[in-house]
Amino acid sequence: YVKHAGKNGYELFVKSMNVVAKRRLELESHLRHAIAENELSLNYQPQVAMSSGKIVGVEALLRWNSRQLGFVSPVEFIPIAEETGLIAPIGEWVIREACRQTRQWQLQGLPQIRVAVNLSVRQFARQNLEKLVNQVLLDTGLPVDCLELEITENMLMDDVEGSVETLHRLKALGVQLAIDDFGTGYSSLSYLKRFPIDRLKVDRSFITHVTTDPGDASVTQAIIAVAHNLGLSVTAEGVEEVSQLKFLQQHACEEVQGFLFSRPLIADDLAELLVTNDGFITLPADLNSD
Ligand code: C2E
Ligand code: MG
Ligand code: MG
Ligand code: MG
Repeated sequence: YVKHAGKNGYELFVKSMNVVAKRRLELESHLRHAIAENELSLNYQPQVAMSSGKIVGVEALLRWNSRQLGFVSPVEFIPIAEETGLIAPIGEWVIREACRQTRQWQLQGLPQIRVAVNLSVRQFARQNLEKLVNQVLLDTGLPVDCLELEITENMLMDDVEGSVETLHRLKALGVQLAIDDFGTGYSSLSYLKRFPIDRLKVDRSFITHVTTDPGDASVTQAIIAVAHNLGLSVTAEGVEEVSQLKFLQQHACEEVQGFLFSRPLIADDLAELLVTNDGFITLPADLNSD
C-alpha cells in the first residue's frame, strides 16, 4: 500500500503513526497519576453456577475514568501499563481493592462469594507475587479460598518451567487458579496436566457462535471434556443467549458468565444483586425444555 500510494500515501501513513504515538504518550502520562487521582475502579461481573443459578463468584474488571481522556478500555491501557512498568502499582491496587471489597461484602452479611482477579504478564513473572498475594489476604482478612487468580494461556507458555513453579507457590497459599481465554493461545494440551490449576475459562470467541458454527461447538465440547478428564472445572465467558446456555448445560459446563446474566457492575449494584433473591439469578424457565 505504502509503496504504491506515492507521496500522499506516505504522508497519510506518517500522520496515522503520529496519531497513534500521540495517543500512547497521552495515555501513558495520565495513567501515571490514575491511582493518586482516584481514577481507577473495579467492576464486578457475576459468575453463575449452572446447577443452581447461584452467584458463586465475580470477576473483577478494571475501569479507568480519566479526568482528561474520559473512559479508557483496559484493552487499550493494560498493554501500556505493561510496557511502562506501571502495571506493578496498578496490579497491586487491583488485587488489594478486589480483596477488600469482597471481604466487605462478607462483613455486611451478604452471601460469600469468590473474586477472580486478572493477572498481567509482568505481574505473573514477578519473583515475589505470592508474597504480595499473601500480604493482601492478611491485610484484608479475605479467606484464601475466596480469591481466584486468572492467568492467560500464553502467559504460561512463555516459560513453562517457570510457570509451573510460580503456580505451585501460589497454589501453596490456597488460592484458586484459572486459565483465562482458554483455546485462543498456543498451549499444548500435554502441559495442562503439569499446571496446578482449578479451572479453565472458555474464551468468548468460541461461545459467540457455539450454536451456529460446528467448529466452535467442537472446540468448546473438547475443552470441557479435557478439563473434566483432568479434574478441572469450566467457566464459559461471554454467554449472551439462552441457546448458548442450553448448549453449555448439555455439555456439563459448571459455571457461566456473560451479559445474559449481568454486565460488569459497580460494587453497590453487585451487592444489591447479591441481596436480591439471596444471590440466586433466575435462569431462563425454558432451560430444561426440549
Ligand atoms: P477478560 O479477562 O477475558 O474479561 C472478560 C471481558 O469480556 C470483559 O471486558 C467483560 O466486560 C467482557 N464480557 C463479559 N461478558 C460478556 C458478554 O456476554 N459479551 C461481551 N461482548 N463481552 C463480555 P473488559 O472489562 O473490557 O476487559 C477486557 C480485558 O481486559 C479482560 O479480558 C482482561 O484481559 C483485561 N483486564 C480487565 N481488567 C484487568 C485487570 O485488572 N488486570 C489485567 N491484567 N487485565 C485486566
Ligand atoms: Mg479474565
Ligand atoms: Mg476471559
Ligand atoms: Mg476473553
